[in-house]
Amino acid sequence: MARDWSSVFDLGDTDPEDLLEHFDRAWFRGEAYRYLSDARHGVERGTAIVDDVVVRGYPSMPRALVLEPAVHEVFDGPVAVEEKLNGYNVRVARVDGDVLAFTRSGFVCPYTTAKVERTLDPDGFFEDYPEHVLCGELVGPENPYTEHDYPEVEEAAFYVFGVRHRETGDPMPVDRRRECCVDYDLDPVRHYGTFTPAAAVSTAREAVRDLDAHGREGVVLKSTDGRRALKYTTSAIHRADLEHAFALPFDYGRDFIFTRVLREAFQAVEFEDSSERVRERARKLGESVLLPAVETVRAVEADDPVGETHTVRADPAVIEALLSYFRDKGLELTVQRDEIEDGERVVTFTKVARSTRDKTAYYLSGGTI
Ligand code: ATP
Repeated sequence: MARDWSSVFDLGDTDPEDLLEHFDRAWFRGEAYRYLSDARHGVERGTAIVDDVVVRGYPSMPRALVLEPAVHEVFDGPVAVEEKLNGYNVRVARVDGDVLAFTRSGFVCPYTTAKVERTLDPDGFFEDYPEHVLCGELVGPENPYTEHDYPEVEEAAFYVFGVRHRETGDPMPVDRRRECCVDYDLDPVRHYGTFTPAAAVSTAREAVRDLDAHGREGVVLKSTDGRRALKYTTSAIHRADLEHAFALPFDYGRDFIFTRVLREAFQAVEFEDSSERVRERARKLGESVLLPAVETVRAVEADDPVGETHTVRADPAVIEALLSYFRDKGLELTVQRDEIEDGERVVTFTKVARSTRDKTAYYLSGGTI
């Protein structure tokens, strides 16, 4: 019998069918499932339905442009300060005995599922928490989504930053989640401690200065019940984002660029930068905008591929499923390397940035704006 979805999703007067029609259908190892690639009717993007089991999407969290007032606005009790890692968001759930790894958009990624099978031993956790999901950041080289590397991560690693009930999305309190990581031998994200809001501001500022010096991304502040969160990022990541966006300038929206520049402006004021320090920020920001753009124009001129380049390594069937998914999504891929190494298929490919390639070529050949 089909489930009564109105008891799962809090939809008010909305007919559950109006929500379900927005779900896309996909297949994992021959089994169909559904996923919601955009938030609808208050249901988070990335929510998936596998065999009538719902796995809620990971919620969006607000960002502070100025830490101090934002912390006091969002929190009225103890605040946990954690590192924000720069990889990709993965939810790991066990459905009908299968451990599945969902990306932020709700896709059951064959590559990530294989990596998780290899790097994580979640059985003990799922024995005790069969209806929960592990939410974490997958970081490390050789992945198909992000390019940031951490010196301490040689292979893919999964760092837990949340445990939630899969159907309600209710988070486990921060302390209990951290204990779970110890009990089940799971790697947690770095925790700086739990503080009063005022002390959390100074800890977060200090952490951000230190993370910035090491080219790391930033912090997430959370209420101890895990229900409220606030993110704040380093100058290093603002520049890295800009470098990435200006390497593919016609594929990234102008909003993306505008928001990064503003984050820098507000941070310079909150961190009471001297005029030399502001000038230094301006110089670095300018370089992160112009240098990659020039490189891209040169690459198109030389007919080299432009886009995001990744290397993946796994069982040949897993690689095939991953590349088919990208192609089905309409991505154009160029492959630079494709070989078998120790029984695994290793592929280096570029997700071609078509708008950047085509518009750049158009202007290079005399096109006018
Ligand atoms: P949004 O939060 O609005 O969906 P987004 O998709 O652009 O924004 P980010 O700005 O990168 O995402 O920030 C949120 C993401 O940060 C989370 O989805 C998660 O993948 C990642 N993250 C890394 N470390 C943590 C952490 N300690 N706690 C929570 N999230 C973290």
